[in-house]
Amino acid sequence: MRTTTSLDARRLHVTLCPWLVPRESTCKRGALVRVDKDVHRVYTSSVKTVMFALWELPQNLLGAALLGVAWASGRLRKVSIERGRIFIESRGFGVSLGLFIFWFHEGNRYFKPDSLMKRHEYGHSFQSRWLGPLYLLAVGVPSVARVLYGVAYREVTGRTWRRYYDGYPENWADRLGGISPDERAQSLRA
Ligand SMILES: [Zn+2]
Repeated sequence: MRTTTSLDARRLHVTLCPWLVPRESTCKRGALVRVDKDVHRVYTSSVKTVMFALWELPQNLLGAALLGVAWASGRLRKVSIERGRIFIESRGFGVSLGLFIFWFHEGNRYFKPDSLMKRHEYGHSFQSRWLGPLYLLAVGVPSVARVLYGVAYREVTGRTWRRYYDGYPENWADRLGGISPDERAQSLRA
């Protein structure tokens, strides 16, 4: 099994040569030469990254565009790379778009400050990995619908909607982000 994976990966490297070549290796007539163990590891992880980037392409494109908009409009606080994702601390918005995870914790007129948002959005990033091109439809649409309901609820009743995280896909994202129901209840009480 390991040998097959390794051979497949190598075949892929050769196909991609010379466009995706690790620094320590070279290309000769389109074929990759001098692949040692470490280089192979780095190379395999690069190939995986490229595969995921393509699998999650729609949300990755949106995420990259949003990063540009956040930067241009001064709503970017901090960017860090953690656990294979790009975490962006923003001013005023949180959303998980493939590799790009935007989060903030101040809250706004419609939602309370949320100290768990970074972990919650990280949870959505697993949904993106699993669902790939279906993510925006299967997770994005119901999620936006819940946000809109929260906004309407606030405008109509004058109160904050506290059940945003109770239903699909938000409760699932909480679980994937390692947030327990107790932690969520506590954060909503704070
Ligand atoms: Zn969410």
